[in-house]
Amino acid sequence: MILIDGKKAAAELRAELKEEVAELKSKHNKVPGLTVILIGDLTPSQIYVRNKEKSANEVGLKSEVIKYPDSVEEKTVLEKIQELNSDETVSGILVQLPLPKHIDKQKVIEAIDPSKDVDGFHPMNVGNLSSGYESSIPCTPLGCYLLIKKIEPNLSGKKAVVVGRSNLNGKPMTQLLLKENCTVIITHSKTKDLKAECLGADIIVAAVGIPELVRGDWVKKDAIVIDVGINKTDKGIVGDVHFDEVSKNAKALTPVPGGVGPMTIACLLKNTIDCFKRSQI
Ligand code: NAP
Repeated sequence: MILIDGKKAAAELRAELKEEVAELKSKHNKVPGLTVILIGDLTPSQIYVRNKEKSANEVGLKSEVIKYPDSVEEKTVLEKIQELNSDETVSGILVQLPLPKHIDKQKVIEAIDPSKDVDGFHPMNVGNLSSGYESSIPCTPLGCYLLIKKIEPNLSGKKAVVVGRSNLNGKPMTQLLLKENCTVIITHSKTKDLKAECLGADIIVAAVGIPELVRGDWVKKDAIVIDVGINKTDKGIVGDVHFDEVSKNAKALTPVPGGVGPMTIACLLKNTIDCFKRSQI
């Protein structure tokens, strides 16, 4: 079984991006800039943002974090986004989710200029992805896609089962696999026989949020299994895939932690650089 090393893949991607930033700097005499807006003091959000800033600096991006207290008014955040939209030194804008209840998430997402939407959540980018046009792609599914392609460069005709249909993971993952000519089945909480669906799959991407939902006898020999889940349990952090069982059957599997997670941040940097490149055309 191939253990898909997300840490290594992310480090390789960051090294490539670092070179690309250096080339862009010598060509344009400026570097891509990423601005993250962080609202409130939720510990996981603070950790994510700190890691994003550290990785952005590592590859040579201009990086900035704007912090607001939990009590910030929605209007203040929307005005700041407008300011960043027209700031030429800002290539990518990310508002760290979740937001406090009094702030309308959709309004915030739609306020970001689609050409600077490094999360790929703006309806314009969602539409472009599903139409097969160039767009920012949500970072986690993009990371999964790059890991799958490392194992199997030609996905044409493969049967893929995506478990979970969130806007964040399942739906964009489906679009990426479809673009690669996979036959894709998207499953969710109302799916009748998830085990049977998974058993037919060459590729399984699990993005559910249920610890160890995908069992060893759900996976056919030679399947590639990507585990997006991050679940806190009594025995520590586990994924949506039962690692010990599935590793006995699958051809390749991502561990949790150390699989998809590290790729997510590296893909955020990639999206920022891609936004910059599109803005220079
Ligand atoms: P989400 O928005 O809660 O969506 C979960 C999806 O799973 C929903 O579509 C839901 O179906 C489906 N589902 C629930 N129970 C199911 C079942 N028994 N069988 C099949 N499908 C079922 O979750 P998310 O935001 O996509 O996150 C999923 C997991 O990924 C979480 O553990 C999260 O922490 C993790 N995550 C990891 C990263 C990373 O960087 N590695 C990034 C983001 C999220 P319905 O639509 O029918 O409700």
